[in-house]
Amino acid sequence: MKGTSAWHDECGVFGVWNHPDASRLTYLGLYAIQHRGQESAGIVALDGERHLIKKGLGLVSEVFDDAAIAQLPGRAALGHVRYSTTGMNLITNCQPLTANLANGPVAIAHNGNLVNAHLIREELRELGSIFHGTNDSEAVLHLIARERSPDFLKCFCASLERLEGAFSMGALSHRALFAARDVHGFRPLVLGALEWQDADGGRQVAHVIASETCAFDLIGAKYLREVSPGEVLIMDDSGLRSEHLTPRPGSRLAQCIFEHVYFARPDSVIFGRSVYDTRKRAGRMLAREQGIPADLVVPVPDSGVPAAIGYAAESGIPFELGIIRNHYIGRTFIQPKQSERDLGVKIKLNPQTEILKGQRVIVIDDSLVRGTTSRKIVGLVRQAGAREVHLRIAAPPTTGPCYYGVDTPEKSQLIAANQSLDEIRRFVGADTLGYLSVEGLLEAAQAPRSDFCAACFDGRYPTPLFGLDETPGGSRREIVP
Ligand code: 5GP
Ligand code: SF4
Ligand code: MG
Repeated sequence: MKGTSAWHDECGVFGVWNHPDASRLTYLGLYAIQHRGQESAGIVALDGERHLIKKGLGLVSEVFDDAAIAQLPGRAALGHVRYSTTGMNLITNCQPLTANLANGPVAIAHNGNLVNAHLIREELRELGSIFHGTNDSEAVLHLIARERSPDFLKCFCASLERLEGAFSMGALSHRALFAARDVHGFRPLVLGALEWQDADGGRQVAHVIASETCAFDLIGAKYLREVSPGEVLIMDDSGLRSEHLTPRPGSRLAQCIFEHVYFARPDSVIFGRSVYDTRKRAGRMLAREQGIPADLVVPVPDSGVPAAIGYAAESGIPFELGIIRNHYIGRTFIQPKQSERDLGVKIKLNPQTEILKGQRVIVIDDSLVRGTTSRKIVGLVRQAGAREVHLRIAAPPTTGPCYYGVDTPEKSQLIAANQSLDEIRRFVGADTLGYLSVEGLLEAAQAPRSDFCAACFDGRYPTPLFGLDETPGGSRREIVP
């Protein structure tokens, strides 16, 4: 298939309408959701009728300083953080993406991955559209541009109707801030309110949107609710209202369970539930399903900590921080090369001999993807003198790639897609290995299975894949421009 794509953005979105410090709030909001994307950051501010734009490669704190924020005045803003896969760390892919359309300036910030973007791109290219970057979100801008209505909302909704797959999206025009979520509700997106006083002492309310509620905590905004799946929320000077996208025949709710497993911050409320609580409950379920006699429960920090607390509570086995993390290093996955990733584990995690020596240790992590991290960790725990090492994973085996915006590797790199439980156990060097079941995980999230996507664990992809699964490398393939 020519012109096939993948873009694979793990991202975070933040926006604010009606606040004198809109871009500063957006900076703070992006800071709180930095874990959702570390390769680029951007803010678009609405100053009168103009859009002012600043974006760049790097962390929020690297792209923005006081001077940069001062150059983004205005009472509304939209921001984005992005993580891209190797080779696509291009400035042209930084979001928000912007354009000047017949009906004014527009900026969009997208979290999630579209499964039909390659088809839309091909169609638009034949109609003469020129694409600058390699990401799927650009197709949305072109779709909006092709809608000829003077009413931006109409153009936006008509474009969204054409998209298949995952989008939690913010958009900013010169009249309003918009927040839209696909009908499946794959990625989170929440609405909040922040009160402030104007110069006359009058009470004003700013509306804020964010990928995760932890962004609201930082700026002191009140969490109101989720943007509903299929909802297009409009925040403007007349307040708040919403439109609804047409439900796809046979389509279902498919909230990403992996947000609860790994991706979201534990202090966020995702899909109406505390992530921390879900992870602790997953640990409890894991102890019930995969219990084993041992002396200590030790988390792989930070991702395994809440599950290990739950496991220890359920099993009655003492919890110890037997592995200490150096916090001045990014997540190991972020480094593009395998060799650097291996080194990263050693720099990052240090097992404590005094705690582990001679002990039977249950090591808990949130997920096992390639197995390379776990192998290193099990090795380090053994070197520190542990007598037995039992690896317990608070998620099911990862057996398939994600086409909806999480950077799960292609199938060939997923150890559980290619090896048996015992082969994986031997590869990581553990005495025993146990995973949580899909049922156990969904029970931990206190959700009916039908409301969630768990496709990377159970292979049940909730949308058509439009040939993405047939391309070599699956969803990870780059666009050939
Ligand atoms: P592996 O078994 O692939 O070597 O590594 C598993 C570790 O990677 C776990 O500790 C988990 O927290 C982390 N992990 C799982 N999925 C992702 C992801 O999508 N992005 C990043 N950065 N880390 C991940
Ligand atoms: Fe989330 Fe996995 Fe579904 Fe992707 S495939 S949306 S990571 S549950
Ligand atoms: Mg981890």
